[in-house]
Amino acid sequence: MAVDMTVGVEALASADRAHIIHPYLPAATTERVIMTAGKGCTLTDADGREYLDATGGLWLAQVGHGREDIAEVAAEQIRTLEYFTSFWEFSNDKAIALAEKLVSIAPDHLTHVYFTSGGSEGNEAAIKMARFHHFRNGEPERNWIIARDKAYHGVGYGGGTATGFEVYHDGFGPMMPHVAHLTPPWPYRSELFDGQDPTDFLIAELEATIERIGPQNIAAMIGEPIMGVGGMIVPPDDYWPRVQEVLRKNGILMIFDEVVTAYGRVGKWFAAQHFNVEPDIIVTAKGITSGYVPLGAVLVTEAVGESLMRDSGFPMGYTYNGHPTAAAVALANLEIIENEGLLERALTIGAYLHAGLRTLLDLPIVGEVRYVGMMHAVELVSDRDTRAPLPMLNPMLPDIIRRETGVIVRDCAHSLVLSPPLVMTEEQADRAVAAMRSVLERTGTDGVVHSAS
Ligand code: PLP
Repeated sequence: MAVDMTVGVEALASADRAHIIHPYLPAATTERVIMTAGKGCTLTDADGREYLDATGGLWLAQVGHGREDIAEVAAEQIRTLEYFTSFWEFSNDKAIALAEKLVSIAPDHLTHVYFTSGGSEGNEAAIKMARFHHFRNGEPERNWIIARDKAYHGVGYGGGTATGFEVYHDGFGPMMPHVAHLTPPWPYRSELFDGQDPTDFLIAELEATIERIGPQNIAAMIGEPIMGVGGMIVPPDDYWPRVQEVLRKNGILMIFDEVVTAYGRVGKWFAAQHFNVEPDIIVTAKGITSGYVPLGAVLVTEAVGESLMRDSGFPMGYTYNGHPTAAAVALANLEIIENEGLLERALTIGAYLHAGLRTLLDLPIVGEVRYVGMMHAVELVSDRDTRAPLPMLNPMLPDIIRRETGVIVRDCAHSLVLSPPLVMTEEQADRAVAAMRSVLERTGTDGVVHSAS
């Protein structure tokens, strides 16, 4: 659907440039890609050009864009009860139904749900919950948070500090004190592990850090089960179970930031089920509504829930906590994931897409191709032997791929990353691979893309 031409595409772009502050947009970029419609994995811009959404927006869009069934549910809920608070004793039927649903699909030990509007809010809540849990249980000095380099936990000051990229800290003044960063579990970057087995190295580092800070001062360790923004980093299978063992021994809570991985992205409802671990707190957002409206949910154990709800209750609340329209949309979204078998679909289409992406390994700049379910990365190197990262020049490879082929992929830390809707078809997967090949095969080891002749 093209835009109303009485407004005009250039007029829209110009109004955008005049008024909208876009996250992470360099000042020199004047181009605007103005989306006006979406259906399944396809997006349409104001010029009427169609795109293949191979990133699911920002790691979501599980059920695909433009679903009438979800639109109907949202409209009906807005007619019935669009919003009321969930502070104090107030609640609503949709938030209650959603909490029951989440507990039924979550690992058995998670029994309580705290609603937010997104992932950053969820991580702020999780960090506060961990500290408050210990405070309520007579250990107020347990304040330290262990995180990892290359982690991304959103943009609050708590989660933002736990985020392991300097670029997200610089210029924002002092970050939150009492946060320690460890090495990411990134087997491809073997130079990080001093020639040791990666998990052995990482567990020794964790134990040494706990020893240095003192277990009695540490509230929690927070981690994405699979690091997304850091470059789709998949840890060795034994990493999380061994981390869990060390944390439990030291009374330290384990927070899984599953903002990306929950609700089908890895072929299970939660990545905790994929890695067979039992985090004390799981933070979710994104896929809970496939992005139709903003919502997040933090799931906690009986023990954490009990300490938060005890006495005067948990002194932290967001205005949109338990939003009935968002909850109704989430219920409809989860029902679609279930009815359409999208957890299984993530595994089959994920394996299919991976097989396609693996064919790119014949290109000298492709160092590694990795995936879990519908999270995919193609790591780019300038030298396969040394694994030196490919320089990422401007315009960035994803911009060139989009302009030339209409396929939207993203770069994360020297990898091209794909996280498409789980409803992607085989033809669309083929198109994504062909689009990447058409640009990568013209890309030199210096990062320069040569023109098609
Ligand atoms: N945690 C992870 C792992 C994420 O990838 C993101 C966003 O991409 C967030 C937290 C922040 O979520 P939001 O952007 O909804 O605040």
